Amino acid sequence: MEGALTARDRVGIQDFVLLDTHTSETAFLGNLKKRFSEDLIYTYIGTLLVSVNPYKELDIYSKKQMDIYMGVNFFELPPHIYALADNAYHTMMAEANNHFILISGESGAGKTEASKKILQYYAVSCPSTTLLDSVRDRMLVSNPVLEAFGNAKTLKNDNSSRFGKYMDIQFDIQGDAVGGHILSYLLEKSRVVHQNHGERNFHIFYQLVEGGEEDLLHQLGLESNCQHYSYLVQDECANVTSINDKNDWKTVRNALSVIDFDESDIQHLFGIIASVLHLGNVQFEADSKGYATLNKNTELRWVSTLLGINVQVLQEGLTYRKIEAKTDEVLSPFTVDHAIYARNALAKAIYGRTFTWLVNKINDSMENKEPSRKTVIGLLDIYGFEVFYVNSFEQFCINYCNEKLQQLFIQLTLKSEQEEYEAEGIGWEPVQFFNNKIICDLVEEKHRGIISVLDEECLRPGEATDFTFLEKLEEKMGSHPHFITHKLSDKKIRKTLDRGDFRLLHYAGEVTYGVVGFIDKNNDMLYRNIKYVSLLLWSIIHVYLTDKLLGDSTTDPRPSSLLGLTDILMSKEPWYVRCLKSNESKQPGRFDDVLVRHQVKYLGLMEHLRVRRAGFAYRRRYELFLQRYKPLCPATWPHWRGVAAEGVEVLVQHLGYLPDEYKMGRTKIFIRHPRTLFATEDAFEVC
Ligand code: ADP
Ligand code: MG
Repeated sequence: MEGALTARDRVGIQDFVLLDTHTSETAFLGNLKKRFSEDLIYTYIGTLLVSVNPYKELDIYSKKQMDIYMGVNFFELPPHIYALADNAYHTMMAEANNHFILISGESGAGKTEASKKILQYYAVSCPSTTLLDSVRDRMLVSNPVLEAFGNAKTLKNDNSSRFGKYMDIQFDIQGDAVGGHILSYLLEKSRVVHQNHGERNFHIFYQLVEGGEEDLLHQLGLESNCQHYSYLVQDECANVTSINDKNDWKTVRNALSVIDFDESDIQHLFGIIASVLHLGNVQFEADSKGYATLNKNTELRWVSTLLGINVQVLQEGLTYRKIEAKTDEVLSPFTVDHAIYARNALAKAIYGRTFTWLVNKINDSMENKEPSRKTVIGLLDIYGFEVFYVNSFEQFCINYCNEKLQQLFIQLTLKSEQEEYEAEGIGWEPVQFFNNKIICDLVEEKHRGIISVLDEECLRPGEATDFTFLEKLEEKMGSHPHFITHKLSDKKIRKTLDRGDFRLLHYAGEVTYGVVGFIDKNNDMLYRNIKYVSLLLWSIIHVYLTDKLLGDSTTDPRPSSLLGLTDILMSKEPWYVRCLKSNESKQPGRFDDVLVRHQVKYLGLMEHLRVRRAGFAYRRRYELFLQRYKPLCPATWPHWRGVAAEGVEVLVQHLGYLPDEYKMGRTKIFIRHPRTLFATEDAFEVC
């Protein structure tokens, strides 16, 4: 009968845990799709939020919407990113502890948008005093600035984050957002000097050249035309319809003044950005012996002026290598290739340091110097799993990083949850899941993992090459089920691999990496560019730029810095947002079943659902539970003199909990559905 569809038929189920008939992948996808077609992009699995990228503006992020979600229990309203943000906030306030929101999904799935929505929610909806408004403004405007310098158009996403970002939002005891701190990871510096087909350099370059005021460009020696700069036209894709560089320039300029950049900082910052563009245009020619020379050096003069480095010193740094002999220093000339390499290395180093400096400046402006006690909500938006036609060291780092985050998710949800039920003696049928630890080990294990092998090869300058690295890998990893190369594979697979490739079977799918560049890029990251880049060049960077850019060049930006991140996250209570990509062509409203199914599978959402359905949403130690809710029962108020577990039993009996709604473990009470607890919490507030 037409028109007799219930709301549930039409909009699907808003929490997968309640999808009662069957829990197959097909039912799961059907529900997602049904909701998506009604522009309902959010669905819960318990407290985990699944979000499907609509690729169109939805009218669900207004101030009015924010108000609706403020202080309302999680399950009383349609799923929303604001509900998750609000719930994390209220839990933090009630329990006075730290939280983090882990946003994951592949490139273009909507992670960065989600993190911005959360930040906006806190900035707009938390209590406010005029004094604090400036801190909030700064937190909000830090986004466009970091995106200008750290995002770029890729094949997957026109505004792809090319760095990982972890941001702590600090709240005082009244719940005001009073400060913030950002950690950045793995900036893809190589993009400064090279972009793949169909991709662009970092937005800021185009914004400056297209949008920069005439006076400013004049001072920087720049022309208002991207075509003029070789770092910007490698792929002839300077103009993208979805990007308005001129407008974005204005946004960034305004934002910079909000975060305390004065005119001299701004001059300085764009002087450095311009110097990178000039550097890219520095061309070398070969002399009769094949050594690099610089003939026309207008560009070099600009670099020299803008960075304040003596032009002679700069020229020598780019064309000679300095060798320290016993008592003397000898200059040995570069070939043209080596000179280009050195030029690019300098450009990348300058850009990388500028980025670090920028993050530090933003942090200074958001810093809260009050010594009072604060709690934090951390937001992690790190770039997602990536598979391109050609995958290199950058993708290797990014994908490893995602592998680690998946491992963290597994540890915190699937593994520890089930272990806890066992430890507490709660009857439990274990849920099987794929544990990607085996892949993490393959990459990171000491002395045996891919990174160790790479580091070892990097310690043999002059002897090791990308190909000896590959051979070592073949020796060590030969029989590993997640590792394969041309040599190691059978005939059929061999056809799909080049000799210089290795393929990893990641949790999210297969990725083939080309080894060319691995050694250099790893060296660059380790700051021991012994082979080509002269010590002289590095000393220039060091002496001249450390004064100006107080950036920290010593942090190792490789994934190992993620280990620190894992520690940061482990000490906080997690919330999850899992972003799914609806289709590959960024089309509004299109839901590609195969693509979404693949993501649902590798993100482990079905396993998570199974654990959630069979498990318990809430658990609390008996003492704490009793302490909080004892006023609700005459037998436990004001004191319960006996064993805490017995007190809790008396309390929940009094509250009318049904036997199926909770279980008593060894040290904790487990409550199946959050609704039960919300009712108790409401009663508590009334009393
Ligand atoms: P990721 O950070 O996961 O790579 P982004 O957050 O940058 O992906 O999202 C890619 C693009 O998808 C955005 O530029 C935007 O056009 C679109 N998008 C993502 N999330 C939403 C949303 N909630 N509503 C509308 N469009 C979105
Ligand atoms: Mg992003």
